[in-house]
Amino acid sequence: MTTTLFPSPAWPTLPVRGEDAVFPVHRVFCVGRNYAAHAAEMGAEVDREAPFYFTKSALAVVRGGARLPYPPGTADYHHEMELAVAIGAPAFRVTAAQAMDAVLGYGAGLDMTRRDLQARFKDRRQPWDLAKDVEGSAVIGPITRAADLGALGSRRISLTLDGATRQDARLSDMVWSVPELVADLSRFYHLAPGDLILTGTPAGVGPVVPGSVVRGEIDGLDPVELTVTDPE
Ligand code: MN
Repeated sequence: MTTTLFPSPAWPTLPVRGEDAVFPVHRVFCVGRNYAAHAAEMGAEVDREAPFYFTKSALAVVRGGARLPYPPGTADYHHEMELAVAIGAPAFRVTAAQAMDAVLGYGAGLDMTRRDLQARFKDRRQPWDLAKDVEGSAVIGPITRAADLGALGSRRISLTLDGATRQDARLSDMVWSVPELVADLSRFYHLAPGDLILTGTPAGVGPVVPGSVVRGEIDGLDPVELTVTDPE
């Protein structure tokens, strides 16, 4: 039997509504500029040719309700409220019509971002990793099975910061739909059970500070909450 030099990392898991078994996270794919109003507030335009992606380490995933310190290396840490899609079956080179067979369910998610670093990297045409793959930056609420939720339709997606609404949109505002995103990603990856797709944020992103309480909601899903504590 092979022994390891030190314990393998404990992969994050997410609760699934109404079930004892949890969802073990495999990979985290994130979609950029999937709401036109957010692209505009970032000074960019939506690319209607194809979606684009970045990734976060699976180990950046934490469950909703977390209390996390303000991260190092930024003075402009932003909230981004997003629909998280939980993959539950393999998908490779699937069509949009086949894509939903791979979707296990959905959660409310936060794609926390070092916005100051992202802006600098954009200017310098450098990769976004330090801006996006922040430890503890993928905060995900409980997963609800797609069959229990029903159609996504035009459900409201919203976020409050210390009780004040900052992001407020409809899932139907997404430029690329969930089946389109799953199908497109499956051209590049063997999507597998445990993968998460954060589907992009609506307009209204903004900074948090130590003491901030962030609460994200999508109609029909359990909310996601994050409390930001003092930096370490
Ligand atoms: Mn995002």
